[in-house]
Amino acid sequence: RAKELGGRRVEVFATHMHADVVRRLEIASDLQRALHENQFAVEYQPVVDLATSRVTAVEALVRWWRGSTFVPPEQFLGPAEDTGIIVPLSEWILREACREVAAWRASSWDIGLSLNLSARQILAPRFVESVSEALAESGLPASALTLEVIEEMLVEDAEETVTKLSELRALGVRLAIDDFGTGYASLAFLRQLPVDMIKIDPSFVAGLGQDETLTLLTRTIVRLGHDLGLIVVAEGIERPEQLELLREMGCTRGQGYLVARPMAARGVDSLMRTTLQNTA
Ligand code: C2E
Ligand code: MG
Ligand code: MG
Ligand code: MG
Repeated sequence: RAKELGGRRVEVFATHMHADVVRRLEIASDLQRALHENQFAVEYQPVVDLATSRVTAVEALVRWWRGSTFVPPEQFLGPAEDTGIIVPLSEWILREACREVAAWRASSWDIGLSLNLSARQILAPRFVESVSEALAESGLPASALTLEVIEEMLVEDAEETVTKLSELRALGVRLAIDDFGTGYASLAFLRQLPVDMIKIDPSFVAGLGQDETLTLLTRTIVRLGHDLGLIVVAEGIERPEQLELLREMGCTRGQGYLVARPMAARGVDSLMRTTLQNTA
């Protein structure tokens, strides 16, 4: 009886594994096709200066519409990384976003671009060249581009990653640590890489005003960032109370659904028109 049950359990497990492998293979071939058929899009989430409410930058976020179904980045970025499709995909995002932000800047809107990097993208042989080419072709100044990395990217191939990112920083590109505070080497990371900005993870921001420890930790990260001369960005602002506390703490910038949701380029166009009208 026990043996029978054990056998059944193995079978059930194997069926799940099989389904998972098949799903990943399907996603891999779908991703390849999606790239060729231009199914990807870039959305932009505004980042504001908390003291003035002015939009200082937009963060580019990749979107995949597979037919009429939206596939969230968390679902396809892993398979894209595993299959290497992340390299041509990231190259496309880089060019597209540089081109669009350069066009907004050409309409005399002074905004920057924040771009998320993937580990494999950084290790690709032509990474540094492709970033400088995208800047040259679009006319976007290096100082208007911020590259966001997460700690995990420095776990493997740390030396090569740091070298390449430092080369780009020498060209004037800014570096940011995304999801700051969630890794297990957040402070060591600051010594390894010459960064300009830290982005406080939404898990801290979520507890602002509701959880004493999280509020204290956020305040400490803001102070730490300032003491190190860094720009501090709070992510995931959803409630007015969070915005007020972050302002009171002196956090530099903020991002979140309360401020603005990620939007298509057309949405940014109208945001720009309103902004320029109001400041004219
Ligand atoms: P991230 O870089 O930390 O980006 C912030 C994520 O939080 C985005 O999710 C954004 O839509 C979401 N978000 C913004 N404000 C709020 C809020 O107030 N509440 C909540 N609950 N969420 C908010 P998204 O677009 O699903 O992206 C998830 C992650 O996927 C990103 O996290 C980033 O790590 C990765 N990613 C997105 N686009 C790209 C890309 O073009 N290249 C690479 N390599 N990774 C990307
Ligand atoms: Mg990011
Ligand atoms: Mg983040
Ligand atoms: Mg993240």
